[in-house]
Amino acid sequence: MDHGHLHIDRATGVIDPETRRSPHASGPRAHTGGSVMPAVSVYIPTPFRKFTGNRQHVTAEGNDVAEVLANVDKQFPGFRALVFGSGTEVPRHINIYVNKTEIGSLDGVATKLAEGDEVAVIPAMAGGAGDEPRRRIGALTAEQVNRYSRHIIMPQVGPSGQRKIMESSVLIIGAGGLGSPIAVYLALAGIGKIGVVDFDVVDISNLQRQILHQNADIGKPKAISAKETINAYNPDVDVVTHEVPITSDNAFEIIAPYDYVINGADNFAARYLVNDACHFLKKPLIDGSILLFEGQVTVYLPGQGCYRCLYPSPPPPGLVPSCAEAGVLGALCGTVGTIQATEVLKLILGVGDSLNGRLLLYDALAMEFRQVRIRRDPHCVLCGDEPTVTELIDYEAFCGGAFGHTNEEEKKAMDAAKAAREKAQV
Ligand SMILES: [Zn+2]
Repeated sequence: MDHGHLHIDRATGVIDPETRRSPHASGPRAHTGGSVMPAVSVYIPTPFRKFTGNRQHVTAEGNDVAEVLANVDKQFPGFRALVFGSGTEVPRHINIYVNKTEIGSLDGVATKLAEGDEVAVIPAMAGGAGDEPRRRIGALTAEQVNRYSRHIIMPQVGPSGQRKIMESSVLIIGAGGLGSPIAVYLALAGIGKIGVVDFDVVDISNLQRQILHQNADIGKPKAISAKETINAYNPDVDVVTHEVPITSDNAFEIIAPYDYVINGADNFAARYLVNDACHFLKKPLIDGSILLFEGQVTVYLPGQGCYRCLYPSPPPPGLVPSCAEAGVLGALCGTVGTIQATEVLKLILGVGDSLNGRLLLYDALAMEFRQVRIRRDPHCVLCGDEPTVTELIDYEAFCGGAFGHTNEEEKKAMDAAKAAREKAQV
């Protein structure tokens, strides 16, 4: 007989669902092998207290951290999902302490506990991912089943994949040419939370390509116009607008709450800043850029290379004479942005091969897609073995503002990519 044993994978903290439902395991004092489990005090930080009836401390039994977390979850269903998200490991934005020592330096979730110990579950970033409990989606409503039926019937998606999409959050940098198709397709797919960073207002010259905005939106802040369009397509999406230039002062705060970041910025300054912030916060970054008839897309996963591996630093200011628009074919934005949206949906669903490690080059004039292999550069100034960039840097000098137009710089990037393409055997 297996009275009240909680079967927990020591490495991951995963609780066996069968034993978890065992009536024997739900007594006031669970037993393991006949011995009483130690009772510890678990500190609950403010953002998680809505799950614990606003209690700052709860008492739970367990021989180790995993068992204690499982027992807190039993008392307050949803707590474990809040801490672990959809994964099975403690995510990087959550730190767990036993008597003020982080469990990473102990035995992880297998750290043994004694009666009276204190366990604290602390989201790593104030103002970050821990402030809001992760959106959890239960059974889909009839309307949702209808709305997403063409996704749900796909074997790669199904109801569970659709729930993953609905539980995900994606930050889109820029509500312009790339941000528009990205936002529209992610909204239609039912992404739970979409953040839009843009402080510009809609100009008539945007309407040649930026499908989030229409004639009546001219003069309106792009972030607001984006929110209205997204919710007109799908009222279920929680749209968070960030009507500020992204800078070294606010980049962490803006990016931290999201699962994925998609770069639709139209300038180098934001591109470097977002790349660096995603590296430090360990966020997957789906990068795209466009100019004239050409586009580039790639995916940077944490620890597997970054934009600086490709282009170590922006060109010196003297080389960038103006921030004038060089122009872009409107439909090109749709192609590149839609590829970016596709890549983030694949990452969310955990299907297919991402563009991580590959730079996709799209030449619309030749109508050719090519790809070059890219890999983490051990000498990278940011993600290399001996990084020299260890904090966020602003590059306003290169374009006169975090969202200026620096297509000249983009063109240089394109030229560099072309050179790389010519060198590489594809
Ligand atoms: Zn790098």
